[in-house]
Amino acid sequence: MKKLAKVLSLVMALVLCLALFSACGAEKDGGKEKLIMGTNAAFPPYEYYDGDKIVGIDAEIAALLAEKLGMELEITDMDFNGIISAVQNGVVDIGLAGMTVTPKRLESVNFSDPYAKGIQVVIVKEGSDIKAIKDLEGKLIGVQEATTGDIYSTDEFGEGNIKRYQNGAAAISALQGDIVDAVIIDNEPAKAFVKENKGLKILEAHYADEDYAIAVAKDNTELLEKINKALDELKADGSIDKIVNKYIPS
Ligand code: GLN
Repeated sequence: MKKLAKVLSLVMALVLCLALFSACGAEKDGGKEKLIMGTNAAFPPYEYYDGDKIVGIDAEIAALLAEKLGMELEITDMDFNGIISAVQNGVVDIGLAGMTVTPKRLESVNFSDPYAKGIQVVIVKEGSDIKAIKDLEGKLIGVQEATTGDIYSTDEFGEGNIKRYQNGAAAISALQGDIVDAVIIDNEPAKAFVKENKGLKILEAHYADEDYAIAVAKDNTELLEKINKALDELKADGSIDKIVNKYIPS
């Protein structure tokens, strides 16, 4: 009888230990607050798929930010056009998508300090008669819907000269198929697209210079402050430069 009691208490102690252990484990994995990033993973080298994983400059910066904030990163792929409202509605915590700071967007969301520079450039077919920005007058320009390329060129050349596509790759296909005469898009994705597709080139003239930053909901100033502090540290210790140089070797 004494022996049985001993065995029983041993078993109970073991059960208790296991329960405690798994509870601790659960807290460590699932207990971290999530940092949900909204992006459009068709924008190399900032965000794109490598197999079924989203990689790129923004994805790596987000991973370091989450680490600094003690949060668990989750990336949600969506249309570029939907990112700002997803941030506003709290569907995602941050919009990190090579996103340019514009006065209009600042009416809807806050932006972090800038973490990179963007340039809008013009892609044409080799041998095109479009040699400078002014030659775009009266031509059909392909853009990614709701991007600054779309917004600026619609303003300058008029609605009738713009054709909108869901992403950069679709605009490039349209250029290859002579459906549009040029594509206006950010410089780094432009380089990636021109490398992948024969017979295209980027005009030397820059169409616009811009700042990329992270979008955060207007009412989430606490997160914005934390992100700016973490960004400062990642800039100061060279982490951001390291990531950028990995994807954009100079
Ligand atoms: N920088 C551009 C913008 O903010 C394009 C960004 C993108 O397509 N991911 O509008």
